[in-house]
Parts: sequence; C-alpha cells; structure tokens
Amino acid sequence: MSAQGPTPADTTPDVLARIRIVLVGTQHPGNIGSSARALKTMGLSRLVLVAPEKFPHIEAHALSAGADDVLEAAAVHASLAEAVADCRLVLGCTARSRRVALPEQSPRDAALRAIGKAGEGREVALVFGRERTGLTNGELQLCHGAVHIPANPDYSSLNIAAAVQVVAYELRLALLAADASVLNSTMVEPTAVPAPHAAMEGFFAQLADTLDAIDFHKGRAPESAMRKLRRLFMRAEPDAAEVRLLRGILADAQRMARLASSGASSDDTPAGSR
Ligand code: SAH
Repeated sequence: MSAQGPTPADTTPDVLARIRIVLVGTQHPGNIGSSARALKTMGLSRLVLVAPEKFPHIEAHALSAGADDVLEAAAVHASLAEAVADCRLVLGCTARSRRVALPEQSPRDAALRAIGKAGEGREVALVFGRERTGLTNGELQLCHGAVHIPANPDYSSLNIAAAVQVVAYELRLALLAADASVLNSTMVEPTAVPAPHAAMEGFFAQLADTLDAIDFHKGRAPESAMRKLRRLFMRAEPDAAEVRLLRGILADAQRMARLASSGASSDDTPAGSR
C-alpha cells in the first residue's frame, strides 16, 4: 500500500491525451457537464461532442462542477465519422447487445486495449450514444468493437455520465497498471500504423461501389455482406499503403466492370442505333 514514487499517470499524460471521449447526440446538457466532470476526475481531458441538442448551456457548466476547462475545450462535430476521422481505434459503448455483430468487450479489456493503442502513439475514441436511443447501427458500424458494462441484464442502461465514469475509471486503472517504460517507449513509431479512420471509410465506400459494379449481390440486400467485410478489414487494421493497394485493385475491378458493361451494351445494341 505504500507510495512508490510517481505513477505512470504522472509521467505519461500524453497517453490519456490521445484518448477522446465522444458523446453522440446528447439530449440533456447536464449530462455533458457530468461527463466532463467524470473525465477530469480520471485525468482525461478530451471531450468531443457530435451534434449535441443543447450546447453550450448553463446546465452543462453547472453540472461540470469545476471541470469547465474540459467543457470549454470540447470539440463539436456534425457527424461521428468526422469526430473519429483520425482515430486508429474506435470503441462504441452500448447498453445492450445489438444485431450488429461487433466483437464485444468489457470496459476492463477495452481500457487495456485503448491504453495500449494510445501508448503506441495512436489516436483512440470511446463513443457514447444518446440518452433515449443510444448509438444507431450505422454509428456502431464505424466502430472496431463494442463495449458493454455488464450491468443487471434486466436493467442494464446506465445514465450516460455514469457510463462515462465507469469507462474513464477503467482507463485510469489500465494506465496505472501499465508499465511506464513501455508507455514511454511508444514514442518510438510502431512498424505498421493502421490507416486513419477516414481512409478506411473511403475504402469501404469504394468497396460498396465496386460490389455493385460487379453485381456481387445479385439482388440480395448489400448490408449483410458489407457488415461482414467491414468487420474483416477493421480487424485486419491495414496501414495506409495497404489501403492504397486495396483501392488500386478495386479501381481496376471497377474499370473492368465498366469495360464489360460497355461491351455488353454494344453487343446488345443493334448496329446503327448507337
Ligand atoms: N436507451 C438507450 C440507452 C442509452 S444510455 C439504449 O437502449 O441504447 C446512453 C449511453 O450510455 C449509451 O448509448 C451507452 O453509450 C452508454 N451506456 C449506458 N449503459 C451502458 C452499459 N451498460 N454499457 C455500456 N454503455 C452504456
């Protein structure tokens, strides 16, 4: 129980500075204030708001209880994709399991993963949903994984700021448990840095277009295949050069599909009517 000198938290503030807490579509400004307070008590400082219903607001300041600096520094974005565009790890917190087949983790495992990534110098986001409806399936699909606080299954929905507090506490515990020397060595660039979120989204958009162009779905709804492919490529964490290579392959597939369809239409079209 004796104090052992400075903790990793004292020596590695950069690690927590790479972790942002993103609140999507928050309805009650008081919850934004309480979340800012929850962050600050655990040494986190980066609050990001996506389309908050009321912000800035006096109630947010009232409930931040002195964490006004966190509120004032909060970034506001129009969409979740924009808010996490430069992140290498995005984890969505959900009050209940969804049909979206995302790998689900406990806050403890998620915090270890987040601290590990941030320790490697990468940007990390933990995302929280709306009070009434949580995160949409589309928003969850932007995430590498889901985090569920294993609450009472019959009453599993925590107040959003309480959920932020649990996750922020786990992040602090994970940071304290991490070896300070490992965390400090991060500053060494890892060999393969996963492509930023925005690059992955560009790839997914082109992949969807290509699958259409080659008629991969054959009348089936495209969502299920795209969900599985997103999951596969997000798990693989390709770096920027690998994403460029994949997009080059897609571009060629799109070109071949265009050639094939122009060939088919010229075959179909009677000569003289072209
Ligand atoms: N009625 C909503 C609950 C939203 S609670 C729903 O069913 O989705 C607001 C936010 O707090 C959630 O989107 C989630 O990010 C977080 N949250 C609440 N309870 C949680 C839990 N048990 N595990 C993980 N996150 C939780």
